[in-house]
Amino acid sequence: MAEQQTSILIVGGGAAGVSVANNLRRKNKALDITLVEPSEKHYYQPGFTIVGGGAYTLKQATRNQVDLIHSSIKWVKEYAVSFQPDQNQITLQSGQILDYDYLVVCPGLQIDFDKIEGLSDRLGKNGVCCNYSVDHVEYTWEILQNLSSGRALFTQPSMPIKCAGAPQKIMYLAADRFRQQGTSEQVDVQFF
Ligand SMILES: Cc1cc2nc3c(=O)[nH]c(=O)nc-3n(C[C@H](O)[C@H](O)[C@H](O)COP(=O)(O)OP(=O)(O)OC[C@H]3O[C@@H](n4cnc5c(N)ncnc54)[C@H](O)[C@@H]3O)c2cc1C
Repeated sequence: MAEQQTSILIVGGGAAGVSVANNLRRKNKALDITLVEPSEKHYYQPGFTIVGGGAYTLKQATRNQVDLIHSSIKWVKEYAVSFQPDQNQITLQSGQILDYDYLVVCPGLQIDFDKIEGLSDRLGKNGVCCNYSVDHVEYTWEILQNLSSGRALFTQPSMPIKCAGAPQKIMYLAADRFRQQGTSEQVDVQFF
């Protein structure tokens, strides 16, 4: 009788999930690996800082998920909505239940703009941008190119955040941009 394969279920196909899936496959060809990830696109988020700073386009920071996942890994394009660790099961948004021997949970951090009153409505317009989200990072570069005078405020949120260095990095890139534009004297750069 054929031996049953050990099943590994990975939730989240970001940097962590894809790395774990592909590395496990490299080490063990017999594992039954399933990756649960709803997004067709994979974003290289460290690149978002330089998209905002104009040295990279969003397209350069984006890959098709399918090109990154080893062909022998089962990709389930869905959200996991609940975990039943006592039964070794998870439930997907569709209601489907998946079993596993081992579970790897890596859904990343979810941004909660509503924690700051009034922010969600203003993001992406009126000079309010955020490099942490794929939806707003291109607007950062738009603003930097168009700002010739005034005040540029950079803020660092409290933990947990996706990257602690990102708020400073974009400030230095912005300051360099103003220097190149010859507007350093007209733009007051402040960090909070
Ligand atoms: C602007 C910025 C700059 C950064 N700079 C750096 C840097 O310079 N150096 C560095 O080391 N790191 C940097 N980081 C951090 C780095 O990008 C993250 O640490 C890394 O992406 C985390 O990987 P992850 O797989 O845990 O999460 P993510 O890459 O966020 O992936 C999580 C995945 O889980 C999926 N998911 C979420 N919920 C569910 C669910 N319920 N079911 C199924 N799938 C789900 C999502 O669709 C997503 O694809 C930066 C991040 C940002 C935003």
